[in-house]
Amino acid sequence: MTELIEKLCKTGDLSDNELKMLIADTAVQTAELLAKRADEVRRKYYGNKVFLRGLIEISSYCKNDCLYCGIRRSCKSAERYRLDRQQILDCADIGYKLGLRTFVMQGGEDAFFTDDYMCGIISELRQRYPDCAITLSLGERSAESYRKMKEAGADRYLLRHETASQELYSKIHPAEMRLDNRIKCLYNLKETGFQTGSGFMVGVPFQTADDIIKDIRFLQELQPHMIGIGPFIPHKDTPFRNEKGGTLSLTLRLLGILRLMFPKVLLPATTALGTISPVGRELGLKTGCNVIMPNISPEDARKKYNLYDNKLISGGETAEGISLLKAEIEAAGYEIADERGDCVK
Ligand code: SAH
Repeated sequence: MTELIEKLCKTGDLSDNELKMLIADTAVQTAELLAKRADEVRRKYYGNKVFLRGLIEISSYCKNDCLYCGIRRSCKSAERYRLDRQQILDCADIGYKLGLRTFVMQGGEDAFFTDDYMCGIISELRQRYPDCAITLSLGERSAESYRKMKEAGADRYLLRHETASQELYSKIHPAEMRLDNRIKCLYNLKETGFQTGSGFMVGVPFQTADDIIKDIRFLQELQPHMIGIGPFIPHKDTPFRNEKGGTLSLTLRLLGILRLMFPKVLLPATTALGTISPVGRELGLKTGCNVIMPNISPEDARKKYNLYDNKLISGGETAEGISLLKAEIEAAGYEIADERGDCVK
C-alpha cells in the first residue's frame, strides 16, 4: 500500500481501483503512513493551526424525513425547539468572549427561519463582529435565499451532499427528496460566492466502496472549500436503529485520503468522530483535520438537537469546555488559532 499512498501524495489522485484498495486496507501501517503524509500536507499549508467554529444549533424542527436522522419530521420522540434572534445573538456573544471567530448557525429545515428573519440575524452579527466569519448550515433553500443571506453578510455555507450515488440517495431519503436538487444547491452556493462545504457520512446503511468513490469524484468536481465527513451513528427512533454505525478506522482512512487529494481544504474532526471514540478527534487531527466545531448552543438545545444516539454534548459553551479542548488539541501537537480561519488561497 506504501506505493499507493506515495502516489496519492505526489499526484493528488488515484484510479478508482487504487482508491478502492486503499479504502479497504485495514492494516495499521497503512493508517500510520496515511496519517503521517496527511499531517505533512496540512502542516505545509496550515502549520499546526486548528480553527474553532462555534456551533449554534438553531432549530430541531425539520420538514424533511431523512431516514438516518434523529430530528427527521416523523421522529415522534424528538423534542422540538427553536432559538430566537436574541438567544442566537447571546450564544455568539458567549462564543466571542471565549475567543471563537466563526459562528455556525445550523438547523433542521424550519420554515420559521425565513430569509428576512435570517438576514436580520446575519446583518446584526456582521455588524457586531466584523472580525468573525458567519457560516450557515440550513439545508436546501432557493438560489434567491442564498443570495440574500450572502448579501446580509454570511461568508460560508455547509451542505453535505450526503451521497453522490442516486441509488443510495433514494435508499436513505424519502422519495420527495432529490439528489439533483441538493447538488444544484451546492453549485448555487458556490456561484453566489459562499465558501462552500460538502461531505458525506461514512458507513451509512447500504453504502458500498463504489458509493464512496462516487463521493470522492463528486467532491473533486465541486472543489469545495470545506469537507465534512463523519461516521454514521444510528439513532434509536429512526428506521436505521438496528443498523451498524461507521467505523473509526474507515473514517480516518478517508480523512487521510481527502487531505492528500485536497491539500488546502478545511477539514473538521467532527462531533460524530468524537462521539464514536474518545480519541476520535485527536486521531482526526493527526490524520489531516484542521477544524473543530465546539458546541455553543444553550445546554437544553444541545440535548434536543439529537441527530444520533449519545451525541457528544460537552465542550465549547463554557470557558472550562474551551480550555479542555485547548488541552486536547495541544496534547495532539497542535494549537488553537484565534482567527476566522479561511481556506488558504
Ligand atoms: N438541515 C441541515 C443540517 C443537517 S444536520 C442540512 O440539511 O444540511 C448536519 C449533518 O449531520 C447532516 O448533513 C448529516 O450528514 C449528519 N447526520 C445526520 N444524521 C446523522 C447520523 N445519524 N449519524 C451521523 N451523522 C448524521
